[in-house]
Amino acid sequence: MAVEIQLSWEDLITGDLQKRRVTVPVVFGRDEQAMRAVMDSEASIVVLPHKQVSRCHALIVVGENGLELVDKSTNGTFLNGQHFLGTNCQVQHGDRLQIGPYKILLSTLDSLPPVTSESAVTTESTAVLPGVYHDSLTGLPNRNMLMSLLQTLAERLTVETALIFAVVHLDIDRLQQVNNSLGYRMGDKLLAAVARQLRQRLAPGDTAVRLEGDEFALILESISSPEEALARIELIQQDLHTPFQLENQEVFITVSIGVAWSHLPVQQPEDWLRFARAATQKAKQLGRGRLEIFQPGMEDSGQRLRLETDLSRAIERGELSLRYQPIVALASGQIVGFEALVRWQHPQAGAIPSDQLIALAEETGLIIPIGLWVLRTACVQLCRWHRQFPNLRPLTVSVNVSSKQFLQADLVTQITQVLQETGLPGNHLKLELTESLIMENPETVTTMLSQLQDLGLQILMDDFGTGYSNLNRLRTLPIDMVKIDKSFIQAVDADTWAFVRGIVALAHSLGKTVVVEGVETTEQLHQLRLMNCAFGQGYLFSPPLESPQVEKLLQQPPCW
Ligand code: C2E
Ligand code: CA
Ligand code: CA
Repeated sequence: MAVEIQLSWEDLITGDLQKRRVTVPVVFGRDEQAMRAVMDSEASIVVLPHKQVSRCHALIVVGENGLELVDKSTNGTFLNGQHFLGTNCQVQHGDRLQIGPYKILLSTLDSLPPVTSESAVTTESTAVLPGVYHDSLTGLPNRNMLMSLLQTLAERLTVETALIFAVVHLDIDRLQQVNNSLGYRMGDKLLAAVARQLRQRLAPGDTAVRLEGDEFALILESISSPEEALARIELIQQDLHTPFQLENQEVFITVSIGVAWSHLPVQQPEDWLRFARAATQKAKQLGRGRLEIFQPGMEDSGQRLRLETDLSRAIERGELSLRYQPIVALASGQIVGFEALVRWQHPQAGAIPSDQLIALAEETGLIIPIGLWVLRTACVQLCRWHRQFPNLRPLTVSVNVSSKQFLQADLVTQITQVLQETGLPGNHLKLELTESLIMENPETVTTMLSQLQDLGLQILMDDFGTGYSNLNRLRTLPIDMVKIDKSFIQAVDADTWAFVRGIVALAHSLGKTVVVEGVETTEQLHQLRLMNCAFGQGYLFSPPLESPQVEKLLQQPPCW
C-alpha cells in the first residue's frame, strides 16, 4: 500500500521553502519490516501503523484520521532510503512538525491545493538540504546536523533507558599529503569518495556526517551491542584502508578512529563527540590508522588538541619568553653564563610547564620554529648584555636543542645564519643536547657536531647519567662538556656522594668538562668543589630569571 503525500520544508533560518511530492509505502508490521521496506525502496518516508516504535524512523503513522505524526520519542526521516535527519519532533499544529530549524508540513495530496509548476517536484527528487545542515562537497549532513542529532539522542536517553548508540569520530591521517602531492582537487575527490564509502556501510538509523576538513563522524543507532558496533566500525575502517581509485590513480589513506558509547556520562550532548575525538587523538598518538575506544582520562588529549593549535600561534602572539639561569664557575664563584629556558604564558591556561611545552612541540614538529626562535632570541639577548656590561668577562649562553630540531639537515646553516645576523661570536654559544639524541644517531651527530665546533660552539651533553651511554663512543665524540642531571645530586645523602663522585670522575676521565645542575645547598656546593667540578647551576645560585632581573644581577655580580 502506498500513499502519495506532499512534503514541504521550510527553513526557518533562511526562509527557503521546498516542496516534494512523494509516494511512500505504508508499512504495516514491526520495526524490522519497516526498515527493510525502507532499504528496499526509494521511499522517503516510512509510515508505520502504530506508535510503539522504538529506535525506528517513522515520521508518520496511519491513524484513524488519516496520516498522523508520531510523538516526540520517535525520530528521523529517510530521504531516498538514506537517513539524513534525526529530529526533535514537535507536533506544531495538526500536521506540522518542527525539526531543528525546519518546519515540516505533511499532507495527503487530496487535501492539498493544486501544486504549482515551480513548487512541483518529481517524486524521485533528491532533496538537498540548505547549507546550514549540509556539507556541499560530500553531500553529507554537517556538524550542525550532528549536534541536533546528539541533542535528540540525549533527550531520548532520558526516556528510552535501553537505547544504545555509538558516536564515532574519524580522521583521515594524511589528507594534507594527498593535497600536496596530487592537488586539492584530488583531495576533494578523496573526501567525496570517503563519504560515499561511509554512506554505503550505514544501516537504517545510522548517520554519517562530515565535520570539517578531513574529519567525519558517524552515529550508529542501529546497533544492539558494543561488540556489534565495533565489528561494523572495523569493517568501515578496512573499507577506507582499501585503495581508492581516483581518476585512474590509486590513493591510499589510513584513518584514525575514536569511539564513544552512549552510556558514557555526558553533561552536554556534544560531549559524546568530544570523547570520540579524544579517542581519535589517542589513536593518532599510538601510530595512526588505529581504532581506540574512549576511556575516561582521554579528554586530556582533547585539551591537548586545543593546546596544540594555540602553541602554533604562540610565537607570533608573543606568548613565548626566555628565562636565563646563571651558570657559576665553581672555582671563582662567579657567573660565567646562562642557560636559556623557554616559557609559555598561555592566555587562558596560564604558565605551561616547559616539560609539557617541549613534549608538545616535539610531537607536533613545532619544536623547529620554536627552537629557532629560542636560539635567535638568546643570541640577541647575549649580544645586548655584552654591550651593556662591557667590563664583565664575556658571558656565554647555553641553548637546549631537542632531537627533532638537531636532526634537521640544515641546522648548521641555520645556526651560522643566526650567528651572522646577531653578531654573536660562535664561542659564546653552547648547545645542550641530550644523551639519547647523541647516542642513537652517532654517524649524523658526529659530522654535525664537528661542523658546529668549527663555528666555535661548545657542545654539552645534557642530563648525563640518566640514559644509556656508550662510554667509548662518548670519549671519541666531539663533545666538550657533560651536564650531570639534577636527579643525581638531589637524591644524595652522605652514602651516595660516593656515587656522584664516581660519575664526575668518569666524566673527567673521558676528558669532558663537568657542569652540575640542581645545586640547592651550600653542602652540595662544597662537595662539588671538592670533586673539581668546573661549573654549577641551581637554585642555590639563582632560579631562571627574566632578562630585567638578570640585568639587575649583573650590575653587581654576586660571588659564591
Ligand atoms: P633541563 O635542560 O634539564 O633544564 C633544567 C631544568 O631544571 C629547568 O627546568 C630548570 O628550571 C630546573 N632547575 C634549575 N635549577 C634547579 C634546582 O636547583 N632545582 C630544581 N629542582 N630544578 C632546577 P625547566 O625550565 O622547567 O625546563 C625543563 C626542561 O624543559 C629542560 O630540562 C629542557 O629539557 C626543556 N627545555 C626548556 N627550555 C627549552 C628549550 O628552549 N628548548 C628545548 N629543546 N628544551 C627546553
Ligand atoms: Ca638543559
Ligand atoms: Ca636536566
